[in-house]
Amino acid sequence: MAIEIPETSFPRVIIIGGGFGGIQVAKKLRNKEVQVVVLDQHNYHTFQPLLYQVATGGLEPDSIAFPLRKIFKHHQNILVRVAKVDAINAAQKTILTSIGEISYDFLVIATGSKTNFFGNQDIKDNSMPMKSIPEALNLRSLILQNFEEALLKDLPSEQEQLMNFVIVGGGPTGVETAGALAELKLHILPNDYPDLDLSRMQINIVERAPRLLNGMSEQASKRATDFLTEMGVQVRTNDSVRSYNSIQAELASGKILTTSNLIWTAGVKGAIINGLNAPLTEKGNKIIVDEFNAVKNHHHIFAIGDVCAMLSEAYPNGHPGVAQAAIQQGKNLANNIINIINERPLNPFKYKDLGSMATIGRNKAVVDLPLIRFQGVFAWFVWMFLHLLFLVGFRNKLIVLINWIWNYFSYDNGTRLIIRPFRKNKQVREEEEKTIPRN
Ligand SMILES: Cc1cc2nc3c(=O)[nH]c(=O)nc-3n(C[C@H](O)[C@H](O)[C@H](O)COP(=O)(O)OP(=O)(O)OC[C@H]3O[C@@H](n4cnc5c(N)ncnc54)[C@H](O)[C@@H]3O)c2cc1C
Repeated sequence: MAIEIPETSFPRVIIIGGGFGGIQVAKKLRNKEVQVVVLDQHNYHTFQPLLYQVATGGLEPDSIAFPLRKIFKHHQNILVRVAKVDAINAAQKTILTSIGEISYDFLVIATGSKTNFFGNQDIKDNSMPMKSIPEALNLRSLILQNFEEALLKDLPSEQEQLMNFVIVGGGPTGVETAGALAELKLHILPNDYPDLDLSRMQINIVERAPRLLNGMSEQASKRATDFLTEMGVQVRTNDSVRSYNSIQAELASGKILTTSNLIWTAGVKGAIINGLNAPLTEKGNKIIVDEFNAVKNHHHIFAIGDVCAMLSEAYPNGHPGVAQAAIQQGKNLANNIINIINERPLNPFKYKDLGSMATIGRNKAVVDLPLIRFQGVFAWFVWMFLHLLFLVGFRNKLIVLINWIWNYFSYDNGTRLIIRPFRKNKQVREEEEKTIPRN
C-alpha cells in the first residue's frame, strides 16, 4: 500500500525524523521547487536537553515538545506524516513505513540515536533510560511512586532502597539529572514527605572516566564535581555499573549500591533503519558519511545528526552528538540538495563549535565557549538564556520561563503528578506499550 501524497512534478525529498537536524533541512527547503515529506514516529519535535526537567518534575512535557504540523503550517511544499520508518529499499528508491510505502528522489536520514546498553541485558531490563518524553514521564512516575511506597515501609533499609538513586554516566545529562535530584532532596521532598527521613536518601553518579563532563574542560569538570559534592551527591569516577537486578547495582570496583532507581545515561548508538547496506562505525553504530553528508555507495541518500559519523582528522570519531552538529549539517545539506538539482558544485560541511555547557542547579552551571570559560551564577543565566532561545515555539519559551521564575522564588514546582503510573513489571509494561500506536 502506498502512502497518499499529492502528485508533484518537483523532486521529492523525504526526511526521516523531525528532530533538530530534520527540521532544519525542511525549513531550508521551504518554498523551494521540491516536495518535502517529513516522517516521524511522533507528531512532535522533542527538545531533549530539557528532558531531565520533565523526569524530575520541573517542567510539564508539553513545554518541551512542539507539534511538527505547526512548525510547517505556512509552507505548502512541506508535508508531515506520522509514521515509523521500518526499512529502506535503496535499489527501488522507496521506503517502507508503518502507514505504507513511499518513493523518494532524495532521502535524508535524521533519526538521531537510541540508548546504548552495550549488550547488558539486565541493565536494559531494569534501568530507566531518558531519551524520549514517554521515558521521561516513566521516570517521573517511578520516582514519585517510590516515595509514596517508602512512606508505607517500616524498615529503614527498605525505605532507603526506594529513595536512593544511581545515575550512570557523568556527561551533561547525568550531571544535570543528579543536580536536579539533589535539589528535589534539599528543597521540595522535605515539604512533600515530612514523615520520611530524607537524610538517608543517597544520590550517586557513576562515571567510567576519571572525571565528570569528560567532553568539557577540566575546569568545568572540577567545578561541576564540587557543586554536586556540596549538594550531597556522591561522585564515583573511575568506576562503572557491571550489573543491576532492579534492587542492587554492582560496580566494577566491587561496591554494591542498593537502589530501586537506576537511571541510565551512559551511552547512545545510531538509530539505524533496516535495509540500508552502508558502512557503520564500530563504536556507536553510526552511518559513515562523506563531507557532504552523503551515505557511501548510495545515490541521493544522506544522513545527518546523531545517526551519522563524518570522520575527519579534526573529528576522528565524527562530530559531537549535540544539537548544533545536527542543525548545522541540516542547513548545509538542504543547500546542497538545491545545488544538486541546479547542477551547481556542492559545499563541504564545516562544523562551527559553539561550545558546551551544563547546569547543576540554581545559580550553578559551567560553560565552555570557544574563547572563554566560566562557571557559577553568570553561567547559569547564560545556560537558561540559550536553552530558551533554542526551544521551539514562543508559547513553550514563555511557559518554561514562567516555570523557572516561579521555581526560583518559591523553591517549588507544580508538576509532581503521577498521571500514568509506571509498571515495574517488564512483561506488563511491554503488553501496555504494544497498545500505544506507533510508539
Ligand atoms: C537527555 C538528553 C539531553 C541532551 N542535552 C543536550 C544539550 O544540552 N545540548 C545539546 O546540544 N545536545 C543535547 N543532547 C543531544 C541532542 O539532543 C542530539 O544531539 C540531537 O537531538 C540530535 O539531533 P538529530 O536531529 O540527529 O536527532 P533527534 O533530535 O533525536 O531526532 C530524531 C527524530 O527521529 C525520529 N525517529 C527515529 N527513528 C525513527 C523511525 N524509524 N521512523 C520515524 N521517525 C524516527 C525520532 O522520533 C526523533 O523525532 C541531549 C540528548 C538527550 C537524550
